[in-house]
Amino acid sequence: MRLTRSDAERRIAEEVHSFLSAGAADARELPEEFDARIAWLREWQRRLHEAGLVNVAWPTEHGGRGATLGEQMVVEQELARAGAPELIGVVGLGVVGPSIVAHGTAEQKRRWLPKILSGEEIWCQGFSEPGAGSDLAALRTVAEDRGDHWVLRGQKTWTSWAQHATWCAVLARTDLEAAAHKGISYLVADMRAPGIDVRPLEQLTGEPEFSEVYFDEVAVPKDQIIGAPNAGWSIAMHSLAHERGPAVAARAVKLRVLLDRLIADARRLERDGRPVLEDAEVRSLLARTHIQLEVLRCQSARTVGTMIAKGRPGLETSIDKLQLTRAEQLLGDTALAVLGPAATYAPGWQNVYLYSRAASIYGGTSQVQKNIIAERILGLPRS
Ligand SMILES: Cc1cc2nc3c(=O)[nH]c(=O)nc-3n(C[C@H](O)[C@H](O)[C@H](O)COP(=O)(O)OP(=O)(O)OC[C@H]3O[C@@H](n4cnc5c(N)ncnc54)[C@H](O)[C@@H]3O)c2cc1C
Repeated sequence: MRLTRSDAERRIAEEVHSFLSAGAADARELPEEFDARIAWLREWQRRLHEAGLVNVAWPTEHGGRGATLGEQMVVEQELARAGAPELIGVVGLGVVGPSIVAHGTAEQKRRWLPKILSGEEIWCQGFSEPGAGSDLAALRTVAEDRGDHWVLRGQKTWTSWAQHATWCAVLARTDLEAAAHKGISYLVADMRAPGIDVRPLEQLTGEPEFSEVYFDEVAVPKDQIIGAPNAGWSIAMHSLAHERGPAVAARAVKLRVLLDRLIADARRLERDGRPVLEDAEVRSLLARTHIQLEVLRCQSARTVGTMIAKGRPGLETSIDKLQLTRAEQLLGDTALAVLGPAATYAPGWQNVYLYSRAASIYGGTSQVQKNIIAERILGLPRS
């Protein structure tokens, strides 16, 4: 476990501080209206990339800085500590991009990575389907081999940022005879291609962050496959491990900042003529959230240490995802107890409680993470 920073990590943290002090962006400044917020976030990612502070561990020839994963984590944590907004290109940067870095061809890296970093091209992740979520290998979207291209047919759902995306990483069945996990390929569809229909879905937060995506005879050129045909399953698992692990370290810092704000609010607010802090339930929730965030900080530091040593995230990311979910939901409950209904509409808080409900579902549900921990980490028999 790494709880201290190297000299290089301290230097890059200072670089982030000087960038922020020259014109900091605070998530509380984000426009209320959804489309205006997306435009604002794109511009924020562009500025951050211009300063050389997006995914610094990516190779220099593709726009990164060839820094260590440790330095990248430090950049993300310091941005979170300053209350900076999360990046709109999160799927490209944190889920699909790492798999392109690890498994893509030189041409694919040259073509896609720089625009993922700058936020010029947003990516989405077309994995889940109406009949394939936890049981992802049950997916039914098909890609038929037509010689010089594939033809995609099927439906994806819960596809985050699809309506803003230029590219979609699509898991599709390319061998109908093979066993479930074996006949799947990791294709890249151009979201501007004919035959793609994106239908936004409104979430509990009232915002259309994800969509249904229909593929009706969509042509995908043969060079838009990551890895070999029918070898997509292990690449999908690589993407999901990145979704569950490395991002957690920065998110943990963000939640700590929010808890500190809640503690400050609890100190000054009154309800029914009495200080909010006198409420035993509020005190208990604040303490439990603090403890959970400490557990998350240590767990995440352990995972980051393992990841730096091995060069990739492993099964332990399921523990991070589970602990993050607990922290998100406890913080949401605490916000509701301290702020009352304002926790669902006050600036900076609108999505904290409502979105925390999704934490036990996205990136693999809590039950599925528990199964992975039980069977694959602890070696318990399959249930
Ligand atoms: C905010 C949000 C964003 C998302 N973004 C994306 C995205 O960009 N791309 C994408 O591909 N997907 C995305 N998803 C989808 C997400 O990955 C799936 O919702 C998730 O994998 C669960 O699948 P499901 O919804 O089909 O539920 P199901 O798999 O049908 O599960 C239903 C319930 O059964 C439980 N269950 C299922 N199997 C087991 C088991 N073996 N043991 C115990 N319990 C079990 C589950 O835990 C759950 O409670 C997103 C979801 C959310 C909420």
